Parts: sequence; structure tokens; C-alpha cells
Amino acid sequence: MSVLHIQTPLIESRALSALLGRPVWLKLENTQPSGSFKLRGIGHACQWHVRQGATGFVSSSGGNAGLAVAYCGRKLGVPVTVVVPETATARAKELIRMEEASVIVRGAAWDQAHRYAQTLASASTPLIHPFDDPLLWAGHASLIDEVAQAGLRPDLMVCSVGGGGLLQGMLTGLDRQGWQDTAVLAVETEGAASFQAALQAGHPVTLSSTATIANSLAAARVCDAVVQAARSHNVRSVLVSDAQALSACQRFANDHRMLVEPACGAALAALYETVPAAADAQSVLVVVCGGVGVVRV
Ligand SMILES: *Cc1c(COP(=O)(O)O)cnc(C)c1O
Repeated sequence: MSVLHIQTPLIESRALSALLGRPVWLKLENTQPSGSFKLRGIGHACQWHVRQGATGFVSSSGGNAGLAVAYCGRKLGVPVTVVVPETATARAKELIRMEEASVIVRGAAWDQAHRYAQTLASASTPLIHPFDDPLLWAGHASLIDEVAQAGLRPDLMVCSVGGGGLLQGMLTGLDRQGWQDTAVLAVETEGAASFQAALQAGHPVTLSSTATIANSLAAARVCDAVVQAARSHNVRSVLVSDAQALSACQRFANDHRMLVEPACGAALAALYETVPAAADAQSVLVVVCGGVGVVRV
């Protein structure tokens, strides 16, 4: 069975290269059929479970993860139930239903939706976690494989961090290539800085609340594995404001004629704002993680 994600374009951003004075490459995960990089890891996990005999999937995400599970279920011909919190937008629910998944609204926030989703899961109908699963990380790592196959070896990579699944996938991919010395900028918005809090504490901590327009980054706690892995890699934590993330979305739309959600704008903002943590790099790659939450209705 072939993989469910596509090999995404890798293009240079002339605008960002000019701004930073060195080549900046874009890995265009916004062009994945489900709208974000999530399809890499979730596709990998779903295919693995189907090979083990799974006959359905449960998801607990009203965002890009839920949409990716729904997409994979339709492609693999198995039913999907997505439990979304009350905060999920009408558009998000519509997009999930367009992938032929059923939507259950439960709980004020992701935590409650996730707990309910756990009660629906079984051996034959696994819950696909949005970020904390080695199968996901192995799938996300394919992004780095594609960069290597393209003959590119940037010395700094930039990605946004929610629960840390994407970052953990990137670190997994760097290990696969033997690129442990590559620096990674892990970008969060100020209102959802659970990775920075974990780095400072030396272990994952649960934030009492999150408040950010980049709702795909609003995980109160990152996965344990990424905090552990950050110790043996050159990972630098960067925070941007919501306003900077939004402004980066706008500048990116102007520069590249593509719309991405604020969670992706956060990663782009680290470059548009020319943060000091990126100053020593000779060449940069930014994961344009994408996201369907562009228009909020
Ligand atoms: C999920 C998501 C993130 C954050 O990924 P994590 O694996 O939770 O760290 C960032 N951007 C977009 C568009 C996402 O969908």
C-alpha cells in the first residue's frame, strides 16, 4: 500500500532569503491533501493499525489532526469518529464530515473531548493521538527524508510546536539522516509556551491555561519524548506574539500567495521577525506546516 501523504514541494523563498541574507527554503506541508503535515504521521499510524486489523479509528481533535484521521479513514475505507470540543468551529466540523467521518461534540476543551474519545476506542478501533505517538513521529520524519533526497542540508530548521509531535518527528528524521548537529528552532506563541516551560523545568509541565489565536499550538503540555529528545539535539525555543504570528501569515500570503493558519504563521514569524536564535545559520529550512484554520467561521 502506498503512503497517504504526498511528497511536498521544497522551494526557496526569495523574499525570506533577501530578508535574512542567506537561503531560506520552504517545505510546503500546506499542500498536503488534508491541509497540513499531520497527514504524514497520522497516515503512517492509520496504515500500521489497518495492517494490524483495525476496522475503524477514533480521533479527539477538532483541528488538523481530526481532519487527517478522517481523510485517512476515507482513503483506507474504514469508518472514523472524531470527538471535537465545543470550541470546534462549524467549518472544522463541516470539513471533517466532508471526509465522511462522524463528528461528536463533547467537552469544553480538548482534554475532555480526548477523555471521551478514549472511552470509544478499542483494540479494533484505536484512538489516533494528535501528537503523542511514536508511529506519528516516524511518519512526520519522512519530511526530513525528502529534504535529504532533494540534496539539501540546511543547518537550521524552523517549526512550530503544539504538543511537540512535529518537532519530535523532525528530531527523529534528523537522527535517521545522521544530522544530529542540525539546529532546530522550536517556535510557540507566548500564550501556549508549554515546550519552553518544559525546557526550563527540565521535564514536561502542564500549563494552567493557554490563550493564543494559534489554536493548533494550544497544548497545555508537550509529550514527554520531545523534552527528552531535546536534550540530545540542538533545539532552541523561541516565542512569538499572536500579533507577530498573524502578521507573518499576511506577509507570507503577499510573498508566496498562500494562506496558512496562525500556528504556521508562528514558525514563519521567527524568520520575518529575524530572531537572534537564527542568526548563526548559513541556510534555513522552515516547515510551512499549513493548517485549514485560516478563516474563522
Ligand atoms: C498540529 C499542528 C501544529 C503543532 O504540531 P504538534 O505536533 O502538536 O506540535 C502546528 N501547526 C499546525 C498547522 C498543526 O496542525
